Amino acid sequence: MIVMKFGGSSVANAERIRHVAGIIGKFADKRPVIVLSAMGDTTDDLLDAADAALGGVVTVDAIEKLHKDTASELGIAPGVVDPLLGELRTLLTGISMLREVSPRSRDYLVSFGERLSVRIMAAFLSSQSVRAEARDAWDVGFASDSNFMNADLLPETWENVRKLLGPYAAGKTGDGMPIPVVTGFIAKDPKGSITTLGRGGSDLTATFIGAALDAAEVQTWKDVDGILTTDPRVVKEARPVPVATYDEVAELAYFGAQVLHPRSMQPCLQTGTPVRVKNSYNIEAPGSIIVTSHPSTPSPVRAITSKKGVTLVDIVSTRMLGQYGFLAKVFDSFAAHSVSVDVVATSEVSVSLTVDSKKANLAALRHDLEKFSSVDVRKDRAIVTIICDVKRSSLILAATFEALSSAGINVQMISQGASKVNISLICDSSESDHVVRLLHERYFGKSGQEDLIGVSAGGAT
Ligand code: ADP
Ligand code: ASP
Ligand code: MG
Repeated sequence: MIVMKFGGSSVANAERIRHVAGIIGKFADKRPVIVLSAMGDTTDDLLDAADAALGGVVTVDAIEKLHKDTASELGIAPGVVDPLLGELRTLLTGISMLREVSPRSRDYLVSFGERLSVRIMAAFLSSQSVRAEARDAWDVGFASDSNFMNADLLPETWENVRKLLGPYAAGKTGDGMPIPVVTGFIAKDPKGSITTLGRGGSDLTATFIGAALDAAEVQTWKDVDGILTTDPRVVKEARPVPVATYDEVAELAYFGAQVLHPRSMQPCLQTGTPVRVKNSYNIEAPGSIIVTSHPSTPSPVRAITSKKGVTLVDIVSTRMLGQYGFLAKVFDSFAAHSVSVDVVATSEVSVSLTVDSKKANLAALRHDLEKFSSVDVRKDRAIVTIICDVKRSSLILAATFEALSSAGINVQMISQGASKVNISLICDSSESDHVVRLLHERYFGKSGQEDLIGVSAGGAT
């Protein structure tokens, strides 16, 4: 069996849904489990609707129009979306009356996007003689903790999914079982409240199902030709990376590449299930395949990514504590304030680290740190990450600094990830696109990486 996941842009309107149904039809004999995102920008529209409801305005019109028009263009009975649209309107009315929205009700609200899209797709597939059935994720076993808006799946999800989807996966072609079309992104916590797995969470739903059912492969269908050497919105010449490892992709996603959910590699990393990233707008393109290790020695640099809106914190010990006690105290303070750290560089009496400005409340943490250190906080920084083979770090660092220093860029901190697949640099947010372009040109431009490997690299392999 296989898992096929289609992102929001792949199911944005009736025409795209018709096209995707055609792709699914081609794989119907492979016993596919389908995972869908919400149509187009529906998740954002739902979040905007919550904000409007907080201001006393209930607007479901755009969401209602998109789904109803799509259903009627596809020739599906509106009954497929009407009950959910009614429930959505009731929820927004409630929010507008209370003038408050908790993380719990926000998750309930955004869940409508995926719940609507799977119903439309399943009804359309069935109308095309490809029998299919819409399934909400909790009905196929997705159980999570109650960390609303970024929930983690509970371990029992493995067994649940095997129990509930296993019989379909193990069945034979022609046994008449409908293709499950499952909502990505959502789950339920032990109390039965709907949760979401964080933005982009449908990727995780798909890889989890694939790993639990030991799929031949998980296909994630997007609007780009695979994992690219960098964000195509920053560098239009970015090109597909044919093969990448789970570790490389996990780091790429964690350090800012929107292409896959940061935790989506975890399930397949455990089982070795291959993940393929394909373009639903360009089916012929081979895409990228994500596996445990490279089949042959690849070129040293795989991809470049960046994460803006980061704060750099320099902490210098005022008591000249040895590194042992000092670092322990620093990290205890971060843990006590639940501030997570992305990139770290240390010396014996100082440590520099980055935190996500959007998530961290630094004032109280700073107060604690200042009891034993002096603290300098620098906002508006960016992390530029080179996903690479760190075994060849001397060469990569030399080439990186040469490219940056000749362009007059001053790197403020550097860190080599313990995962052995990344080198991260800190620069000003305003410089980060420029840094990404310079490094992309250095590693994926005309001269490529020949000098780093001694033979023609021909780009990312
Ligand atoms: P979907 O919603 O289909 O899952 P996303 O929109 O979440 O897809 O992710 C795909 C988008 O990620 C691309 O359209 C592209 O603009 C962006 N992106 C950023 N960095 C990369 C990268 N390194 N490789 C591919 N896409 C990237
Ligand atoms: N619809 C959700 C989002 O926009 C989940 C996903 O697309 O994967 O983040
Ligand atoms: Mg996504």
